[in-house]
Amino acid sequence: MVVYCTKCGAENQNDAKYCQNCGESLKAKENYEEKRPLVSAGLNLLIAGLGFVYLKEYPKALLSFVIVVIGALIGGWILAIIALFLVMVWSYIETDKINSKSMDGN
Ligand SMILES: [Zn+2]
Repeated sequence: MVVYCTKCGAENQNDAKYCQNCGESLKAKENYEEKRPLVSAGLNLLIAGLGFVYLKEYPKALLSFVIVVIGALIGGWILAIIALFLVMVWSYIETDKINSKSMDGN
């Protein structure tokens, strides 16, 4: 399988990080896919942590889920809602971070 450079169109190996012809970074463009902060935040309403699954941040997804469950166990639904709200804000911020990181890679 080959990857075509988006800058010069040269063929490169699939695992190549940079274009052999012009040196353009291939990985950053390949992985670049803008995430939507509101989608990420909103997914946590379905299952706490699902917003991080969307971002492929699995440890943070698990942590978010645990935070909300522990919140519910300790403080009932009020603390669970507060924890869920914090998780939503967190995943919103993380989405922004991931997007700006991807843009820097370009
Ligand atoms: Zn190139």
